Formats: sequence, structure tokens, C-alpha cells
Amino acid sequence: MVDFNRKFDVLVIGGGNAALCAAISARRSGASVLVLEGAPKFYRGGNTRHTRNMRCAHDAATEILTGPYTEEEFWQDLLLVTGGQTDEELARFMIHESKDILNWVVEQGVRWQPSLGGTLSLGRTNSFFLGGGRAMLNALYLTAEKLGVEIVYDAEVTGLQIEDGMFLGATLKQPIDGATEIRASALVAAAGGFEANIEWLKQYWGDAADNFLIRGTPYNRGSILKMLLDNGVQDIGDPTQCHAVAIDARAPKFDGGIITRHDSVVFGIVVNKHAQRFYDEGEDIWPKRYAIWGRLVAAQPDQIAYIIFDSSVVTSFMPTLFPPIGAPTVAELAAKLELDPAALEKTVADFNAAVQPGTFDHTILDDCRTEGLAPAKTHWARKIDAPPYLAYPVRPGITFTYLGTRVNKQSRMVMKDGKPSANMFAAGEIMAGNVLGKGYAAGIGMTIGSVFGRVAGREAARNARN
Ligand SMILES: Cc1cc2nc3c(=O)[nH]c(=O)nc-3n(C[C@H](O)[C@H](O)[C@H](O)COP(=O)(O)OP(=O)(O)OC[C@H]3O[C@@H](n4cnc5c(N)ncnc54)[C@H](O)[C@@H]3O)c2cc1C
Repeated sequence: MVDFNRKFDVLVIGGGNAALCAAISARRSGASVLVLEGAPKFYRGGNTRHTRNMRCAHDAATEILTGPYTEEEFWQDLLLVTGGQTDEELARFMIHESKDILNWVVEQGVRWQPSLGGTLSLGRTNSFFLGGGRAMLNALYLTAEKLGVEIVYDAEVTGLQIEDGMFLGATLKQPIDGATEIRASALVAAAGGFEANIEWLKQYWGDAADNFLIRGTPYNRGSILKMLLDNGVQDIGDPTQCHAVAIDARAPKFDGGIITRHDSVVFGIVVNKHAQRFYDEGEDIWPKRYAIWGRLVAAQPDQIAYIIFDSSVVTSFMPTLFPPIGAPTVAELAAKLELDPAALEKTVADFNAAVQPGTFDHTILDDCRTEGLAPAKTHWARKIDAPPYLAYPVRPGITFTYLGTRVNKQSRMVMKDGKPSANMFAAGEIMAGNVLGKGYAAGIGMTIGSVFGRVAGREAARNARN
């Protein structure tokens, strides 16, 4: 039983990767640590449960990574995907620290496995968790428990007492062992973004947000983020920016996870509800483009689109939970999708007529392209003419939002007046906007959580001691 009458050195709010890295790090630095996870135990770990891999710099091949991925190359990749919208000092710091994180998480019980292949092309850059994100989390929880970190589930925090940038205490939604007030010398906020809060999303997206599916936990409602911003913490990031991919329209509203994501875009064409194409499906290799498709679909009427392909490519990509919808002709497929058959037939025929001869290779920017078509398909364009014709309906799948709390290199929150907070730290999605102004490169979410979680825990413990 947790003694809530005591004052903890470090309170960690959240129960995912960032929270656990912070808790372990703080405990290893000698602090007493309480973790408050809003979700029930079975659902502990937020979006981290759904993850598979993490992007870390390394100077030489490792047991599971095929080659070097230097700090500079990581930085260039981040620059590219964010279009320069990143805090260079913090981003370079994170990238430098990521080298050590590869070993540090192993010391906390996490194990790696060889990279998955297919369209991901991540064998050099991203390390995969043996058993996936849930196994990774279980290892972190076990280590935290062994170290003496106190963990409470069903412990949603609904109030923060903050005075002049100093955290004083937190209030629980429901009493636990009769207690609702928690006191601690330092706070680590690791409670995720606001992606599961449809009403908040609607402030920026309007009614379109009703058609969004949330890929992860329903518990990341942004309440901690909002309380921090309302109490003088400086915000960072564009509230409309988020990581959003195209996921199967048949997926559940929350927690559909990775098995609902479609990686087949580059092998076909994508049309909207008017059976019209709207973007170059072959613009760049998939790991650099998959995260734009959620926003692209969000901009289409009724936020629905359809990936159209044929039987010749069905074994070329990772299958998802949902089988494709199939039909012997394009017109019959359109009828099943409730699209205008004549319109879809014309779109496919126009596309096929524009395809130029080339040598197909999905691992490089190949020379299979269209000519005279708008929008063009600039790579991997091959005729769709091998029945049965197949389709996946897709909707925007929101992974996580980028609006967050500004932090410095100590993971310490920065107040609106520019001064660092006395004792408040943040890690993970809740501060991802410092590194990700927009865009995404696979595996950075976990890098942000692990690096800044580790730093936040260490600094919070130091802060509590002084
Ligand atoms: C399907 C899917 C696949 C992904 N795959 C990858 C991948 O392979 N690699 C990668 O790098 N990233 C991936 N991501 C992104 C990754 O999940 C996040 O970047 C990362 O897990 C964020 O960690 P976090 O600890 O900040 O947040 P989370 O893991 O989401 O944890 C937030 C925690 O805060 C708790 N919480 C929220 N509000 C409160 C409150 N008021 N009181 C108490 N607790 C609260 C939640 O219950 C939750 O436990 C994926 C995301 C999804 C949805």
C-alpha cells in the first residue's frame, strides 16, 4: 500500500515509455518516486504499448542494426522531415544522447530483435523491441518495481497546484486509499498529447475531427498539458500538427494499433469519395511518406479515401487486420465501395494509360512513373490490370499531437516569461513539439520519450535533493 501522507521526491504522471524511463532514472539517482498512471493496469502504458521500434544514432553496425547511422545523418533526416521546424540545440542533444540510449534501455531489461523487412526499410536506423512495445513496457515496469518505484493505476490526475512556476501537489480524480492529494518535491509530466480528446481536436479541425480514428490509447486526453499551459508554462508547436497515418476505415475509434495501418499506398493509387486521385502516391520511399497520408485523407471530403490495387501486388506489403475488398472488375469494385463506377473506371484507365515502362524496385526511387497525369505518380507506377481488383477504405488515424510544453536541455519546463520552472520537467509526447515542429521519421517518438525521460528523471531527482 502506498503511503500518500508522505511527500515524494519525484512524482511522475503517466505510465508510458517516457514516464517509466523518468521513474527508473530518478530512482537510480536516489529519489523516492511515485508513478500515477491514469489507465487501469491492463491498459497501462498509453501509446507505448503499440510501438515496435526506436531510432537511435550509432557509429557502427550492432548485433541487430546493419550499419552506421551517424548523428549527422540522423540530424539531416530530422531536418528534412520537419522542414527545419525543430529546436536545433535540443534536437542535436537528443540525437547525441540517443547513442547511449541503445545500451541504457537494455540495462533496464529491454531486449532487441532483428528489424522487420518489407516496405519499412529500417534495418539500418531503427532497433526493434523483442516482443514489441508491450514487452518493452513490461520490462521497464518490472525494473521500476524492483528498484522500489511506487506505481498506482486508475490514478487519473485532474488537478495540479502550481505557484509561480513551482509544482506543489497533484489531485486525483478519485480517492485512492482515502487520499486525493499527492505532494512531491518535483514533477515529471509524461502524460502524452491530446490526441484522444476529440473536442480539443475539433477546435482546430472542425467537425472533420469526428471522422478521425485514434490509433492509440483513449487515456491521452491532454488534461495535464492543458493544466500546465493554463499555469504559465510556455507552449511549443502548432496545435494542428500531429502524426497521422492512413488506417483502415473499419478500425475501432481507439487503440486499433499498428495492425490497422496500411502500407500499400505505393503499390497502387489512392482515390477520394469522388473516385479522384489527389496526391502523388510515389513521392518518396514509404518510411519518409507514410506519416503524411493521415493529413491528406483528412483534407478529402468526408475524410475517407480508398487505396486501389490489383492481385499482382497483394504479397508485396505487410498484411493488415482487415482483408481487402475485392471484385472481378473495376466497376464492381466501385459498387462495393459505393463509388461512382464510371468515375473509378476512368481514373484507373487514365492512370494505366499514363504509366511509362520502367524497372520496378520499391526500395529505391525507381523509374516507374506516369507521364501527362495530374497529380503524377512519380515512382513505382505500374498498371492496375490484374483482376481481382482490390481496395482498402482508409481514414485519418491520429497517432499523437505535437502541441506541448517548452523544455530546455534538462527537460525542465520553460515558463511563459522565459524562466525555467523551479521543479517541473516534461518528457515524451507532451514535449515532442520541441523536436517535431511538423513531419515525422519512424521511431523518433520513442527516442524523444527515452532520452528526455531519462534526463527528466535524473534532473528531477537532483532538483528534489537540493
Ligand atoms: C499504433 C502506434 C504505433 C506506434 N509505433 C511507434 C514506433 O514503432 N516507434 C516510435 O518511436 N513511436 C511509435 N508510436 C508513437 C509512440 O507511441 C509515442 O511517441 C510514445 O509511446 C510516447 O510515449 P509517452 O510516454 O510520451 O506517451 P504514452 O506512452 O502515450 O503514455 C502516456 C501516459 O499518460 C497517461 N495519462 C494521460 N493523462 C493522464 C492523467 N491525467 N493522469 C495520469 N495519467 C495520465 C496515459 O494513461 C499513458 O499511460 C506509435 C504510436 C501508435 C499509436
